[in-house]
Amino acid sequence: MKSPNTLLANTGTTIFTVMSALATENGAINLGQGFPDTEGPGDVVRAAADALLDNRNQYPPLTGVLELRAAVAAANQRFYGIELNPATEVCVTSGATEAITACLMALLNPGDEVVLIEPLYDTYLPVVRLLGAIPKLVRLEPPKWELPRDELAAAFGPKTKAILLNSPMNPTGKVFTAAELAFIADLVQRHDTYAVCDEVYEHLTFDGWKHIPLMTLPGMRERCLRISSAGKTFSLTGWKIGYVSGPASLVPIVAKAHQNLTFTTAPNLQRAVAVGLGKDDAYFAALSSELAARRDRLSAGLAELGFGVLSSQGSYFVTADFSPLGFGLDDVAFCRMITEKAKVTAIPVSAFYEGDAPRHYARFAFCKKFEVLDEALNRLGDFLRQERLTQPARSA
Ligand code: PMP
Ligand code: GLN
Repeated sequence: MKSPNTLLANTGTTIFTVMSALATENGAINLGQGFPDTEGPGDVVRAAADALLDNRNQYPPLTGVLELRAAVAAANQRFYGIELNPATEVCVTSGATEAITACLMALLNPGDEVVLIEPLYDTYLPVVRLLGAIPKLVRLEPPKWELPRDELAAAFGPKTKAILLNSPMNPTGKVFTAAELAFIADLVQRHDTYAVCDEVYEHLTFDGWKHIPLMTLPGMRERCLRISSAGKTFSLTGWKIGYVSGPASLVPIVAKAHQNLTFTTAPNLQRAVAVGLGKDDAYFAALSSELAARRDRLSAGLAELGFGVLSSQGSYFVTADFSPLGFGLDDVAFCRMITEKAKVTAIPVSAFYEGDAPRHYARFAFCKKFEVLDEALNRLGDFLRQERLTQPARSA
C-alpha cells in the first residue's frame, strides 16, 4: 500500500497529551498541560447556556457571529487603540490553534521562508512544513531569553514571507519589550514581509509588564495578523474560540482557509465570548493579578526546594532549572520521574525545540488553586527528602 502523508505519519502525539495521560495514569497533580482548574466567569458560562436555548443553533456566519466580531473590534480599540472593521477585519476560528494554521495557510506558498523563534509552540513547525514552506529558526537563550538581534536579522532574506511571533511567550513567560518589537517591526518592513502574532496570553501579564501588539507599531497595521483566544482570556480552554484581527487585505484570505478547515464554530460559545469581551477593566486586572499571585507561590516554593526558577512576565507558565537538584537526568526523564514518583507532572522544555536543545528545564503551569500548588510543592519536597535519604551522595 502507498504510504499516507509522511510528515503527519512522522509527527508524534503532542507532549501536552502525552504528559496529561501520564499524570492520569500515575494519579499525579498535573502542572503540565496549561489549563486552569477553576471555571471561567459565571456570567460568561451562563450566557453560553442561555444561548443554547434560544433557537439559534444552526450554522453561524463563516467569519463568526456579528456580536463577537464587533466585540473583538471593540476590545482591540479599548485595549490597544486598534481600529478594525468587524465586517472585513475579524475572523473567528475554532481556537487559536486553528487561527495559527489558517493565518499560515493565508500567507504562505510552497518554498516561502518563515522565521520562527525557539523555544516554540508545538503546532508551528509541522504546519509550516505541511504547507511546503521553509522554517528559519532563531533561538532565545535562557535564563534571560533576550532577542538575539544579529541572528534574527540574518534569518530574514529575499525569500522570507513571514515571522511567527509569540508574545507573551509559551513556555518562557517572556513578554517582548517595546525595543525588541521595534527591531522586529523594522525587519518585517524592510524585507516586505508579514507577521503572524500569537498573542493568546495578551491579558496574562504580571508586575506591570504590558503586552504590546506588534500591530500597533508604525507600519505594522497592514502586515500583522493578530491572534488571540477566549480559552486564556476567560479561563475556558475547552471552548476553543479564537479570533484573528488584521487588515482587510489579509483577513478575507484567512477566512478562506477557515472555510476549508472548520467553516465555523459553535454559535452559543461565540455569543458568550462576546459578553466576556465586554467585561469591565476590573475583570481583566483581577485575571492577571490572581495569576501573578499563583506564579509567586509556585516560583517561591520551587526555589525553596532548590530549583533554579526563571522569571515569568506573562502566560500560565514558569520554567525551572532542575540541574541544581543533582539527578543528572535529561528533562524528559526528570519530568517522567517526578510524575511517577513525586506524583507531580511538568513539561520537558526540550519539547519546544527542534534538534539539540537545553535539557535541564521543566515547565510548570501555575494556573491552579493555591491548595493544589501547595500540595504539589509538598509532594515534590517529600520526594526530594526521601531521595536524599536513600541517595546521600546526591545532596553533597
Ligand atoms: N498558542 C499558544 C502559544 C498556546 O500556548 C496555545 C495553547 N493554549 C495556543 C496557541 C492554542 O490556543 P487554543 O486553545 O485557543 O487553540
Ligand atoms: N497550550 C497548552 C500548553 O502549552 C496546551 C494546549 C494543548 O494541549 N494542545 O500547555
